[in-house]
Amino acid sequence: MSHPVDSDVSAVRTYIEQHRAAFLDDLAEWLRIPSVSAQPDHAADVRRSADWLAAKLRETGFPTVEVWATEGAPAVFAEWPANDPAAPTVLVYGHHDVQPAAREDGWGSDPFEPVVRGNRLHARGAADDKGQVFFHTLGVRAHLATTGRAAPAVHLKMLVEGEEESGSVHFRDLVEEHADRLASDAVIVSDTGMWAEDTPTVCTGMRGLAECEIHFHGPDQDIHSGSFGGAVPNPATAIARLVAALHDDHARVTIPGFYDGVTELTDRERELLAELPFDEERWLRTAKSYATHGEAGHTTLERVWTRPTAEVNGIGGGYQGPGSKTVVPASAMVKLSFRLVAGQDPDHIEKIVRDWTADRVPAGIRHRITFAAATRPCLTPLDHPALQSVVRAMGRAFGKPVRYTREGGSGPAADLQDVLGAPVLFLGISVPSDGWHAPNEKVEIDLLLKGVETTAHLWGDLAENWRHES
Ligand SMILES: [Zn+2]
Repeated sequence: MSHPVDSDVSAVRTYIEQHRAAFLDDLAEWLRIPSVSAQPDHAADVRRSADWLAAKLRETGFPTVEVWATEGAPAVFAEWPANDPAAPTVLVYGHHDVQPAAREDGWGSDPFEPVVRGNRLHARGAADDKGQVFFHTLGVRAHLATTGRAAPAVHLKMLVEGEEESGSVHFRDLVEEHADRLASDAVIVSDTGMWAEDTPTVCTGMRGLAECEIHFHGPDQDIHSGSFGGAVPNPATAIARLVAALHDDHARVTIPGFYDGVTELTDRERELLAELPFDEERWLRTAKSYATHGEAGHTTLERVWTRPTAEVNGIGGGYQGPGSKTVVPASAMVKLSFRLVAGQDPDHIEKIVRDWTADRVPAGIRHRITFAAATRPCLTPLDHPALQSVVRAMGRAFGKPVRYTREGGSGPAADLQDVLGAPVLFLGISVPSDGWHAPNEKVEIDLLLKGVETTAHLWGDLAENWRHES
């Protein structure tokens, strides 16, 4: 049995046009469910959202659809095997919970009553992430209808979690518990965006994150700076010296071993990043900052996407009320976070930060350092066949060259990479103006349908160009 190598661009568009109205109506129905995972009084809505999606995935044709309970909100799993056992297995990741939203936050209309204004669909979750999960349903139907297949060209799995907006607290456990069912050759995350409406991009990596809190304790209580100051160590001074020692004059992190293993950008990757239409002035306005600053020898985009950082998130100690209080404070503290890039191991980072700190604690100061759970970085090489399929599929949908970005933030996708040992690819159609987590969140309907179109081309391309080596 043979299938066309390429799904037909115009047939896919016609199919989507025919089903567009029903698709948007269905999405609106889902958006009306206020699945706010952070608010306990919406727990029933989050469950209803999972059940709604499960029913819709069954209707789409997935032969296996299950709602998986967690200690918190439920996730939805769906599976649709390919007829060809040698076809690659792809897991699509997204989430069905949303950020809190209330009319009085500045919404022009009820956040849970979707409205269409021109090309925009406004509702909480329109872009983050219900719209981007939902485009996969029409995408797979368009793939089947336009290629005459009964099953997708790849083994298709979906995992749509219900706690992303409240920190994915049980996600790692969920993935570990169901690792067998989730096993896949690649993970496609549809919970991200692209550069701009006229610049389709794929993201190839995401930074990781390690966070710690360091406390320095000096005297057993605040003591008189006239009677004792200058003759005992001051924990606030010691914390300040520690923080000042974090970076050198070139804004490089000084902790020995910090850059161990860092995957450096290739010349080609640097060129590709430089091709993006980046307006630094505009970026600065978005940053609400007055100057750029960072590691010498790197551009702003390289700094936020491809370089590891050490950042002071908060610092304090001693008297901070009105007027003066002449004391040597009993304690001082700092909260640090480290963004990590491919090649860096959070466990190694924790060890070297602990050692580096311990070496800098003056006599007479006791210290305590605690680390939060870390997130690993992920990076997919440019020549990975699955990544190239995403780029081709997106290029066919958009009719434009597809460029490459990375993500400076960190997310639960790294757990999938970790546990499943599969590369993570990012396919998102959201644009920066979509207002994630903000009032009046929206999705551009044209782009949503480009997401549908991309996946309609993607599964066939992947199956054709990326065979299982067994
Ligand atoms: Zn999201």
